[in-house]
Amino acid sequence: MSPVVNAYDPELISLLTDLVATPSFSGEELTVQSRIARWFSAAGINSDLEDADGGLKNLVVTIEGQKNGPVLWIGGHCDTVGVASDWTKEPHRPVIEDNRLYGLGAMDMKGGLAAAMLTVRALHRSRDQWSGKIIFSALADEEAWSRGANAFVRKDRGIDAAIMCEPHFSDVIIGALGKINLKVEVTGRSAHGSRPEEGVNAVIEAARLLVAINGLERFVHHDFGKASHCVLNVTSGDGRYEIRVPDHTAFVVNWHFMPGETVEDAVKTIEALVAGLNSPARFAVSVGEPRYESFLLDKDSAFVSQFCESYRLIIGKEPDLRFGRGVSDANIFAGRSGIPTLLFGPDGANMHAGDEWVDLDQLHLSRAVYLDFARQFLKFNQTSPLQ
Ligand SMILES: [Zn+2]
Repeated sequence: MSPVVNAYDPELISLLTDLVATPSFSGEELTVQSRIARWFSAAGINSDLEDADGGLKNLVVTIEGQKNGPVLWIGGHCDTVGVASDWTKEPHRPVIEDNRLYGLGAMDMKGGLAAAMLTVRALHRSRDQWSGKIIFSALADEEAWSRGANAFVRKDRGIDAAIMCEPHFSDVIIGALGKINLKVEVTGRSAHGSRPEEGVNAVIEAARLLVAINGLERFVHHDFGKASHCVLNVTSGDGRYEIRVPDHTAFVVNWHFMPGETVEDAVKTIEALVAGLNSPARFAVSVGEPRYESFLLDKDSAFVSQFCESYRLIIGKEPDLRFGRGVSDANIFAGRSGIPTLLFGPDGANMHAGDEWVDLDQLHLSRAVYLDFARQFLKFNQTSPLQ
């Protein structure tokens, strides 16, 4: 136990244990979402199960303070990846050893969710003492297609700031790369293979474009440099042996991009290369799912400064504000929908691997940061304690 955490809160530990013991693989979140709903209901808090694509749900809790004011979102995804082959413990039978709780999803990210749930309940108990609104969500499908986050942001809820309780304790994420898959379809014209000059060979035309894509000069971000792209595959024809000029080829480019670049920019870049080829073939560029826009918060914004203040107060050091190279639901919140979002929550190890664990000191400290920040952000009346 760290010197700043005097004792573990049995309620927080048992809530986390309960969440981890409830399997919730991507696409199978409903059982854990119902459990979360029951937990809120026992505290006198209503929740809604909102629809997401593919028959999935998001669990959403909204609590209003005494007066109108800012809207804060807190939460994250409640799905986990599958069971890796190297587990030596039971993935859904959580155990505590030293200051760690082991179990699938303990770190990513049921620890953060449990801490957020207790924060929301504390705010509910004192709702006559603050202004604005707090929204909590347990989103589906982050580990796969982010269908939960996609559905959630379709409705404008006026959210001013969002804390996604992902395992980033020392490295608080305030921006991230974007990532999409660009599909390019090339249509030529068939002819007998002995007279190729009479057709338009889609493979050759695709190859010309692939060479151009490989030599692209990418946008350079002044702080983070440039992103990369990689051609993932090329397909053509149906695999049959025949002497025919191929008239169709398709390929996929995995395209990473910096803040300052958009999905539309990526499409335009490829289309400009196509125009430069003067090709007799036709090219169609499309963007597939999943789709993650890049984002970057302003370090000097009131949201980030206020968060840093709470972090310093509780954890006793300066947060390390980082730019993330991986994508998450935050790309959809911030990059696509413009909701200022940062990632902070209890960390651990072995994410997406065997014997995943979350640090219980960080679990308690994260909850304290959430509470302190919410108190500042929602203009809590300072005269009574919030717990
Ligand atoms: Zn996660």
